[in-house]
Amino acid sequence: MDGIGRDERTHRSRQNELIHMSPNIHQFAIPTPFMVGPVNVYLLEGDPLTLIDVGPNSPEAYDALVAALAQLGYTLPDIQQVVITHHHVDHLGQVARIMEESGAKLAAHPQTREFLEDPTTARERHGHFSQVVFQEAAVPEEIIQAVNRSYKFLQRYSNPAVAVSRMVDEGDMVQAGGIEWRVYHTPGHSGDLICLYHADSQTLMASDHIILKISSNPLIEPAAIEGQPRPHRLLEYISQLQRIAALDIQLAYSGHGAPVEDVRGLVEKRIEFHHKRAAQILNFFEGHAYHLWDLTEKMFAHVPPAEKYLALSEVLGHIDLLEQDGKLTRIYREGVVYWQPVTEALHQP
Ligand SMILES: [Zn+2]
Repeated sequence: MDGIGRDERTHRSRQNELIHMSPNIHQFAIPTPFMVGPVNVYLLEGDPLTLIDVGPNSPEAYDALVAALAQLGYTLPDIQQVVITHHHVDHLGQVARIMEESGAKLAAHPQTREFLEDPTTARERHGHFSQVVFQEAAVPEEIIQAVNRSYKFLQRYSNPAVAVSRMVDEGDMVQAGGIEWRVYHTPGHSGDLICLYHADSQTLMASDHIILKISSNPLIEPAAIEGQPRPHRLLEYISQLQRIAALDIQLAYSGHGAPVEDVRGLVEKRIEFHHKRAAQILNFFEGHAYHLWDLTEKMFAHVPPAEKYLALSEVLGHIDLLEQDGKLTRIYREGVVYWQPVTEALHQP
C-alpha cells in the first residue's frame, strides 16, 4: 500500500514539474472548406511569439485567427515568427497575408520553400506528376477530370508567394515561445513535414504526422528533386512513426483535432492498421494482375470521383508496402503498370 502511495506521489510531482516546465501553448481551431474540418494553428507564448501554421487562405480563416489572438490580447503585429509544418493549403494558405501584417520571420523546411516562394510552379509540378501517375494507373478520363477539378478548388485556398527567412531541417534548433525546439523531419503524410520536439517538457508539435481520430493519408507526390523516382510515402511514414514513438512524449499537439497523450499506443494501432489493409489488398488478387485503378475501385468504389486521389494514394501506399515485403511484383503493359502476387508470377511460363 505504502509503495503504491509513493509511486503515485512521485508520478504526481513529475506531472506538476512537467506542467510547470511546459511551454505556453494555445490551440486555435481555424475553419477550412475541406472535408478534414478545422485545422489547428498554435500560438507559442514567449520569446519569440510564434505561430505554428496559419490556416487556409480564406476570409473565414483570417477572421478566426485574428479573433483567437485578440482573446489573448494579441494582434498580428505582435507575432514575431511563423513556422510552417508542411505545404498543404489548410496549414499555410494565408501565410502571405499573415507575414505582411505581422512582419514576422518565416521558418520552414527546404522542401516547403518552393510552395512558399513560388507556389504556382510548385503546385503545377505536383499536378503534372499526378497526371503521369493517372496514366500508369489506367484511371478513366472522367475521374481524372473530377480529381483535377478538386485540385483546382484546393488551390483557390493557396498562398501568393512569400519569402522564407530561415530554412529548418532535421536536427536544427528553433527558439519559439521562450524555449528551444528540435526539428524532426518526418516525411510520410507529405515529404516536407516537420515536427518540433521539446525534450524537457516532453512536448511534440506533431502537425499531421500524428492525428488522434484520422489515419493520416500519405499522399502521392513527386520527389523533391525533378526526375527522381516517386517516393514511397507510406513506407517513409511508417518508419517516421516508429522514430517519433521512440521519443518520450507526454503530449503531442496535432494538425487536426485534440492532442494525443498515448503516442506509442496510437502509433502501434496505426502500423497494425496499415499491415491489415495491405493484407486485405493482397487478398483481392487471387492470382490475377491488376492496375492501380482496378484495385482502388475494389477497395473504394463508394468514394466520390473528386476524392479519388486520396483513395489512389491509400492503395498505392499499401502496394508499395507489399512490393517491399516481396509479395507483389510489377509488370508493364502499354504504358500501364500491373501488379501481381509474386508466387503466381513465378509460375508464369
Ligand atoms: Zn496535411
